[in-house]
Amino acid sequence: MPRSTVARIDLDALRANYRKACELAGGAEVMAVVKADGYGHGIARIASALANIVPKYAVACIEEAWAIRAAGQAQPVVLLQGVHAAGDLADCVQNNFEPVLHGEHQLAWMEQGGAVPAFWLKVNTGMNRLGFRAEDLPAVMAKLEKMGATSRLLGFVSHFACADDAGSTMTLAQTANFEAATSPWPSMMKSVGNSAAHFIPGQPLFDWSRPGIMLYGGSPIVGKTGPELGLEPVMTLEAPLITTRVVKAGESVGYGAAWVAERDTRMGMVAVGYGDGYPRHAGTDTPAAIAGCRIRLIGRVSMDMLAVDLSNAPEAMVGDPVELWGRTVGIDEVASCAGTISYELLTGLTSRVPRISR
Ligand SMILES: *Cc1c(COP(=O)(O)O)cnc(C)c1O
Repeated sequence: MPRSTVARIDLDALRANYRKACELAGGAEVMAVVKADGYGHGIARIASALANIVPKYAVACIEEAWAIRAAGQAQPVVLLQGVHAAGDLADCVQNNFEPVLHGEHQLAWMEQGGAVPAFWLKVNTGMNRLGFRAEDLPAVMAKLEKMGATSRLLGFVSHFACADDAGSTMTLAQTANFEAATSPWPSMMKSVGNSAAHFIPGQPLFDWSRPGIMLYGGSPIVGKTGPELGLEPVMTLEAPLITTRVVKAGESVGYGAAWVAERDTRMGMVAVGYGDGYPRHAGTDTPAAIAGCRIRLIGRVSMDMLAVDLSNAPEAMVGDPVELWGRTVGIDEVASCAGTISYELLTGLTSRVPRISR
């Protein structure tokens, strides 16, 4: 019998969230971002579940694009970091991978190698991670023209630094910068929006949006949960109670004796810990649930288990499944208790946890 610690993946919820992104995208087409193993859900499973409804996938690097092909899916795959080596350009041509060209070194590889796939050009509008500055675009475009590569250019992309803050003026400034920089080439497509941009009223998404976290039900907006934004949780992390006991008033539980019972308390141990990717920084009072009833963590999270207060769930018995996040306890709530974001919890779930989809 395998340990019954599992991540249940609800593929109907995934598809509902994708449809929600399409609604919010107005007229823009929507590519599904499935990098980092489909945000921890399993890239093959996620790409296959979306295969009939998405026109394009996006991933960080070519290895992830190969994983989509290995799963049997044939749509174009955008490589958000472009190619990491000159030799990958020919693979892009042959396999319908669309790299993002973001730096001079990649331009040189294209110039030298001859193979020019359909590609996107990244404009740095203020994020300052990747991309050409607006003022350098004319020179880059002239170079591409000289190489005969402009016919393969699909369009311009950029990325927002502060879209998770719905009131940020930086997003407005980046959008204006992007529109001005790309205006000399009006026939090119444009793409700027991650999940957060779908929730900013009046934010243009241009031709293609690129949602990731919202497809998985996580909130892209600071201070809001996924369900508050109309998103359905896709993953439920579940682990069994493996023992229960009463700790007496004045006794402590777990490492560092970090939690001390104020009164006699019935508690339980749950078979999940930071070795599974459950965040060690989730402290006492982080929510969990048992049979739809909310309970709370007590003490420190260990590698393989954590402690819960069963005062709210007097019927709970060994073997009962505990929800660590899912429909009763939102992943955004757990993330906020751990001082992080749902992205990190989802992508941090380790391979010890089997993913089971329905
Ligand atoms: C990861 C990523 C996205 C998706 O971001 P979410 O916040 O998960 O929606 C979009 N665009 C780029 C360039 C990315 O790297």
